[in-house]
Amino acid sequence: MVISPRGNENADLRVSSLISPNVACWNFDRLHQLFLPFECDRIASIPLSSRLPGDSICWDLERSGQYTVKSAYKTIFNDNWKGDEEATSVAAHTIWKKIWQIQALPRVKVFAWRACQNALPTRRNISYRIKDYDSECCICERDFESTLHALRDCKLARDVWRKSRFAHVALSRTSSIVDWWEGCLAEFDEFDAASIITLCWAIWGARNSWIMEGVAPVPEDVVSYAKKTSSEVGDALIKKNTKAAGMALPASWSPPSPSYYKVNVDAGFIDGLGSGLGVVVRDENGGVLVCGAAQSQDRWDTATAEAKAVMFGLQLAKDAGMDKLVVEGDCLQVIQALKNRSAGASSFSLIIEDI
Ligand SMILES: [Zn+2]
Repeated sequence: MVISPRGNENADLRVSSLISPNVACWNFDRLHQLFLPFECDRIASIPLSSRLPGDSICWDLERSGQYTVKSAYKTIFNDNWKGDEEATSVAAHTIWKKIWQIQALPRVKVFAWRACQNALPTRRNISYRIKDYDSECCICERDFESTLHALRDCKLARDVWRKSRFAHVALSRTSSIVDWWEGCLAEFDEFDAASIITLCWAIWGARNSWIMEGVAPVPEDVVSYAKKTSSEVGDALIKKNTKAAGMALPASWSPPSPSYYKVNVDAGFIDGLGSGLGVVVRDENGGVLVCGAAQSQDRWDTATAEAKAVMFGLQLAKDAGMDKLVVEGDCLQVIQALKNRSAGASSFSLIIEDI
């Protein structure tokens, strides 16, 4: 920065007047007349082109000379604009890969990613972008509202953690969200880790509701909401796996119509033992009339084993003199094939035809 006073006689002075045009170098006599010695040295260190090209505008804060908003922000906010909690890109990348694998709702994972990137709109983060913005936590007023404060150290967060089964998690004193979650992921299994991050998400939502709507959340309700959200993922996973395996959802047993008998069948496979079949036949009162089990060394697939179990159950009932039968099993594929009286070209089509 130049601090030498500019006299009235130099009001229209141009940089070109400081350069000797014939030799394309700085006019040192003129420099020393106008500037202090250290300013002369700085100016003289600026290289000049022997071609003396015309003036052009360049941005001094980027090597390319091109203006970027990023460099302007950095300069205006004294290089603090990224915040003091920013995770290193490597650490954030590593934990993100782990978080992506946990069983949580997509919106919870997106929240976690934003937290790891220090991209949640905490008051602390907003204050880096808006000068003189108050970064103090407006809930407890004890500290500035950083991501860690909001999710772990604030009074509201601590009350919620205490009501959960992960109370000690909030006692951690790590200084970054990435380190904190790294510890959680290392200590807990995938299911609990997902529950912890979902609870963080619920705490963040509760804070925002409190600030925006002025209603103080009940810590127990925040924990329940997080649990409910986590269980939605569990239910969806069971449905997905069940559907993938062609299984019907389990249902409670209901009795058959009067004078009918219900044949419940099931099949399983254990490595080293082979396939197992189980059958129970009950009447309208739930009384067990026939039951049986069979084992085979065959390594049937699920649908084939279930079809075998149906055939086994029907045979036992028939041998016991029962003819009005209702079959119940948990393999949707087999039940539908029996209803349609066809299994197409599937692996168990021959058994269905046998039945
Ligand atoms: Zn607070």
